[in-house]
Amino acid sequence: MDYQSTRNPELRASSAEAVLNGLAPDGGLYSMASLGEIPFDWKQTLSLDTQGMATEILSALLPSFTKEEMRALVRRAYAGKFETEDLTPTVQVGDDTVLELFRGPTSAFKDVALSMLPQLMTAAREKCGVDDEILILTATSGDTGKAAMEGFCDVPGTKIIVFYPDGGVSPVQKAQMVTQAGKNTCVCAVRGNFDDAQTGVKNVFAAVNDRNLLSGKGIRLSSANSINIGRLAPQVVYYFRAYANLVGEGRIKLGDKVDYVVPTGNFGDILAGYFAREMGLPVGKLVCASNANNVLTDFLETGRYDKNRPFYKTVSPSMDILVSSNLERLLFLLSGDAELVKTLMEELKETGVYQVPIDLLRALHEVFWQGYCDDLDTKKAIGMVWREYGYLCDTHTAVAWDVAQQYKAAHPEHNPVVILSTASPYKFPAAVLEGLGHAAKGDEFDVMEQVRNETGVPIPKNLTGLREREARHKDVIDREQMLDYVLKKASQKEWF
Ligand SMILES: *Cc1c(COP(=O)(O)O)cnc(C)c1O
Repeated sequence: MDYQSTRNPELRASSAEAVLNGLAPDGGLYSMASLGEIPFDWKQTLSLDTQGMATEILSALLPSFTKEEMRALVRRAYAGKFETEDLTPTVQVGDDTVLELFRGPTSAFKDVALSMLPQLMTAAREKCGVDDEILILTATSGDTGKAAMEGFCDVPGTKIIVFYPDGGVSPVQKAQMVTQAGKNTCVCAVRGNFDDAQTGVKNVFAAVNDRNLLSGKGIRLSSANSINIGRLAPQVVYYFRAYANLVGEGRIKLGDKVDYVVPTGNFGDILAGYFAREMGLPVGKLVCASNANNVLTDFLETGRYDKNRPFYKTVSPSMDILVSSNLERLLFLLSGDAELVKTLMEELKETGVYQVPIDLLRALHEVFWQGYCDDLDTKKAIGMVWREYGYLCDTHTAVAWDVAQQYKAAHPEHNPVVILSTASPYKFPAAVLEGLGHAAKGDEFDVMEQVRNETGVPIPKNLTGLREREARHKDVIDREQMLDYVLKKASQKEWF
């Protein structure tokens, strides 16, 4: 029983149960009490290839699985799925190192975790003696849904339904989803916005649980969103990968500190960096980069979290978020105080605001720095990085790049900086083209071609030819029909 709820130490679970359940029964997140004590040799881990690192790190964080079991799961998750053998390559851009997390099957960083999660989930199902088929329900604003489907595609014992807002995702994202292959995948548009789809999914979970609608049917619902520890743990690996690369290239000596700058939304990616630090990796500062939705910038500065503020739709949409769920795990790990976390989360729910005690704020400042970058500066950064260094970055990466320069200017004594790059520029081609100083013409697919013609940077294989590929998933429903839709799908043995 290595895991407990961040809100109640009595609610314990094994790591396999934590992966299977996703969320603790009281609404808290599953966390270890502390990461410092798990048996783990960080130096030895740095000498391994990426899959070897993943095996060590994941079996340390999820001790329900033996190292041998984990090795097999890692191989199944990643072999042949990414552009490069090392999964997440690093590139030198000026003085900084860019860690490319978008070389996976859907060109977004979520591939790293969502390739692994299905393997962990099916293995956890076996460990826990659960025979039921797992039906994943996910609402998506674009990236998560596609990456989740690609991860779960034809994984035995699982099915996945993705709901997206009709007209609320980009043409590229829509094309990526509706052309999804696999016998166990299903995509459905919901009339409404993303919040409608997400609330709808939550309502389906509640209705199914409250009224036992699937009991005896051999199916249980689960979710692939980023509060699952099985999605967080795989992200720790690339912090080690980047560090090992810097050592290998002679840019640092083993033991030197490195600062990481992370474009942040739900706080999963950057929290994985904190895990790496607690496991021994010499991490200096973790720099939290936000867009105009700068709730985290204010929080890390003042200790006051206040989500009562305007919501902006930005050119870095995967970071348009006002409640960063994974922050709860950090507050728990730093304070060790589930009672405090419970109180803060209740305040957040009731008033939208909480203030952390001063000692907790001090502990945050030891590890984190913060900054933000609006749309105008995001596009400027894209143009500037291209002209100065010939490196083409996406909008989310550009936010991190801009904040990295702010950080270095404020801290002349900084360590070598690694900037996490979370998406291919071709996922957000219109803003990228504007950043390069050109007006976008035609639809998003035309704009992709324009970007390629301007820069010569190749379009990732999974995005070329999308326009011509046949749509397999054409359902469009109202929000009120989501429960019936799920029940109907759950009753069908074969979807294709
Ligand atoms: C999800 C996402 C992020 C934010 O990551 P979090 O773990 O939610 O903080 C940043 N960039 C891109 C492209 C993403 O898809």
